[in-house]
Amino acid sequence: MQGQGLGDLDSLYREIILDHHRSPRNREPLASPDVEVEAVNPFCGDEVKVQLKAADSTLGDISVSGHGCSISQSSASLMGEVVKGKSFADALKIRRLFQGLMKGEELTEDQMVALGDLEALQGVRKYPVRIKCALLAWSALEDALKRL
Ligand code: ZN
Repeated sequence: MQGQGLGDLDSLYREIILDHHRSPRNREPLASPDVEVEAVNPFCGDEVKVQLKAADSTLGDISVSGHGCSISQSSASLMGEVVKGKSFADALKIRRLFQGLMKGEELTEDQMVALGDLEALQGVRKYPVRIKCALLAWSALEDALKRL
């Protein structure tokens, strides 16, 4: 099952996605999170849990865990890496950029730089069914930020 649906993706991107699926980052639960949100994608059976610990108005710490397809889990892991330590506003900005990327918007070079390794998921936009997988963790993040 691993790597399913990734057949046409560029091999470097594929490697980043599989690496994050195999070894998800920031998976350890937080000792005392300020907020915790779980999200489910019934179309694919993906589940993601996001915990946040605020430090002033930045994401001091984040835990992202769950299970499901490689796209949902690697997107979740990559998300944690990119938004950790960012201000809430910047985290939401990156969420909007990533959503735009998935919807086929043309991003500027600066915007792609802001996305970092999330660029690896850009090939997913060719597979509309999988876009929900890629965005699952991000909807959990947005909910979590709203509750902080
Ligand atoms: Zn999925």
